[in-house]
Amino acid sequence: MGEDVQSSGGSPGSEMVYVTDYESVYHTSSTCTHLDLHIYTETLDAALQSRNKDGTRYQPCDKCIGEGISHGHVYLTERGTAYHNNLECSGLKRCIRLVKLDETSAQNLCSRCQYAKGE
Ligand SMILES: [Zn+2]
Ligand SMILES: [Zn+2]
Repeated sequence: MGEDVQSSGGSPGSEMVYVTDYESVYHTSSTCTHLDLHIYTETLDAALQSRNKDGTRYQPCDKCIGEGISHGHVYLTERGTAYHNNLECSGLKRCIRLVKLDETSAQNLCSRCQYAKGE
């Protein structure tokens, strides 16, 4: 009782889920906080010396760094591999795709989404 039945026309096993390019888990909620890319600012010096969550050094974004650093600081994401000059850069935007569950290589349901589902 009280279970949501979604009549989105999908057959069982083809549930639509959210995946990102850099994670091996999938999400059932588009508003999951784990889908939220945290963007933060650093001075260029700090950005050049820091590494992302995968231990990779940040490289200049080829889309927006071409004209140089205009603010004295740059934009980074924890999972990104580039630092950016422009907050509007498409390279900074999170890339979330809605796919069929059986078409994604992501094997595991995000723990937060699982919790939100209430078992
Ligand atoms: Zn999630
Ligand atoms: Zn950029």
